[in-house]
Amino acid sequence: MPMNVKPISILDERINDIRMRTAEIVNDHILPNEARLWNLQRDSDVPQHERRQAHQLREEIKQRVWEAGLWAPHLPKEYGGMGLDFLTHAYMNEVLAYAVGAASLFGVVAPNSGNETILVKYGTEEQKQKWLLPLIDGSMESGFSMTEPDNAGSDPRSLNTSAVLEGAQWVINGHKWFTSNGIAADFFIVMCRVSEPESAHDTSQMVQIIVPSNAKGVNIVRGIGIWGQDTSDHCEVIYDNVRVPAENALGQVGQGHQAAQDRLGAGRIFHCMNSVGQMWRAFDLMVERACQRKVHGGLLKEKQFIQGFIADSYIDIQAARLMTIHAAEKMDRNEGAARIDISAIKVFVPAAYSRVVDRAIQVWGAAGVSNDLPLARMYLGARTLRIADGPDEVHRILIAKSVVNHYEVGKSWDFGN
Ligand SMILES: Cc1cc2nc3c(=O)[nH]c(=O)nc-3n(C[C@H](O)[C@H](O)[C@H](O)COP(=O)(O)OP(=O)(O)OC[C@H]3O[C@@H](n4cnc5c(N)ncnc54)[C@H](O)[C@@H]3O)c2cc1C
Repeated sequence: MPMNVKPISILDERINDIRMRTAEIVNDHILPNEARLWNLQRDSDVPQHERRQAHQLREEIKQRVWEAGLWAPHLPKEYGGMGLDFLTHAYMNEVLAYAVGAASLFGVVAPNSGNETILVKYGTEEQKQKWLLPLIDGSMESGFSMTEPDNAGSDPRSLNTSAVLEGAQWVINGHKWFTSNGIAADFFIVMCRVSEPESAHDTSQMVQIIVPSNAKGVNIVRGIGIWGQDTSDHCEVIYDNVRVPAENALGQVGQGHQAAQDRLGAGRIFHCMNSVGQMWRAFDLMVERACQRKVHGGLLKEKQFIQGFIADSYIDIQAARLMTIHAAEKMDRNEGAARIDISAIKVFVPAAYSRVVDRAIQVWGAAGVSNDLPLARMYLGARTLRIADGPDEVHRILIAKSVVNHYEVGKSWDFGN
């Protein structure tokens, strides 16, 4: 069933136009080809010619997206992107995320998109030429290497990976894991510290450094198996006396933590709007099935349990969607003011996403957990999101602290702003 997208009366013409044209590509070119586009990538039993066809199909769709002016919504125009504000990008994301994996066909796929964003903001002209432009045109891949097995990823200030300037080179030593896209990456942006922190809150010694994946001493230990799979592209990486030129620092020493926050803050809104698009899809699949499947003498849609699933999912999706749009609006007006809203959606949306997909799986019965439908994949993705980009608890703490701070200085909370 195609996605039902119509112009939204309160939005300006440009946003509606972007949404409609995105939906056209999703409905006409991606959804009808979904199985052929993705299932072939890692399955070794698939014949070469089918792989080639899938690759060619992906390239054709990318070309179509590019010609439609819908490539790289997160990037400024000067770097070949759409130059969208947050809100427009959020409205576009819910449409493109309806089709599994479509983000990469629109040139906005993690971790590359987040790395592109910080390269645009902190990169020198030389770094942009060498790393950013190839990343954008797809001739390079990248990873973001922050989390460590021996330290709490939920508190990145605790990380241990060291970078010492020796003459004109950084010497990097550290142990990272869950560096996504690590197998394919041509370079990593590695979060390091240049000396011991003075206190637990000290971020003044943190720096991000660009490390080519073929530099001596970069050891990809393994692709960590997740969710019962033997391997994945989330990699464990040891940086063993890796030497890179001093000019590979991205921004100044002391900006590393802020750059990571810039990357993650924006990313959280985009991930949430992607989740909304996927919930929309799961909802359509659920209701479509409920209208067709007969059980015990009647259609599923006539059973009250299932009506409850449909109603609760509608409520979850609308709440998640409006919260995320609100956060994107705030982000456009004032980045700092959106902090609590970003944490709120980061907690609420993945949980709502899990609930909606869980109900859709239940309605589909055995088929719900099969690879014939995208639901099982969505289910794992939704659960993972409650950990990645900061676990739920950390965001809850941030919300509570910010609220309490207000009351401590004699102000109550203004939910209108
Ligand atoms: C699929 C996937 C992909 C990822 N990709 C990347 C990547 O590309 N690059 C990268 O650098 N990292 C990546 N990560 C790592 C991710 O960012 C971290 O897993 C996350 O920040 C949590 O860190 P941790 O796993 O070390 O958990 P910990 O920090 O050890 O936390 C464990 C648990 O403790 C609880 N907790 C934490 N703090 C508190 C608190 N203050 N109060 C109460 N409870 C608390 C939470 O429930 C949390 O889940 C990825 C993770 C996954 C699962």
